[in-house]
Amino acid sequence: MPSVAAEVVLASGNAGKVREIQALLGTDWRVRPQSEFGVEPVEETGDTFLANALLKARHAARFTGLPALADDSGLEVDVLAGEPGVHSARYAGPGADDGANNLRLLAALRGVPEAKRTARFRCVLVWVDGPDDEAPLVAEGVWEGRILTAPRGNGGFGYDPLFLDPETGLAAAELGLETKNTRSHRGQALARMRSLLAARGPAGP
Ligand code: IMP
Repeated sequence: MPSVAAEVVLASGNAGKVREIQALLGTDWRVRPQSEFGVEPVEETGDTFLANALLKARHAARFTGLPALADDSGLEVDVLAGEPGVHSARYAGPGADDGANNLRLLAALRGVPEAKRTARFRCVLVWVDGPDDEAPLVAEGVWEGRILTAPRGNGGFGYDPLFLDPETGLAAAELGLETKNTRSHRGQALARMRSLLAARGPAGP
């Protein structure tokens, strides 16, 4: 194990994600958000979560010269043929907030019976050692559930108030953060990424 933690840049400025990922990677790595280096977010032009996560990771690695980690995630609703998918953050239009996105989702599913309201959150995480890394590490996590007919709970973010976790019978917004992390698409992808990194051996050059 190196005596000084090696640095990895996270292709996000979200402080919650930085904390979550730092906790997961442990003391081998020091996670630094790309905003600390003045890296502007790249336009997410890919049509899959993997394509967008790769775009973000390569962009952050190119601008910082560090290994980079990026995630891309969203909600896939079966009766909407997988939408909002990669458009989850802006489902109700450019700059839409969570409330507007949730209202649009409820409207799109009006009259759809419970059995047909199946959906999943998906998260793809990508690690690159540099911008031209030809063998990125890729880890995916999926959380299956159903879309409620009205919002429930005050926690979380995004579509959490409308996402029913069938195993607990609670909306994602009703789960504590720790419980959510053990069940969620992001938590699962992070656990897999940790295994992939551990299999490569100790961090650093
Ligand atoms: P991003 O991967 O952080 O860009 O997230 C894309 C969008 O997917 C978010 O803006 C949310 O609308 C939605 N999303 C992703 N993960 C979650 C989650 O855990 N709960 C609720 N919504 C989520």
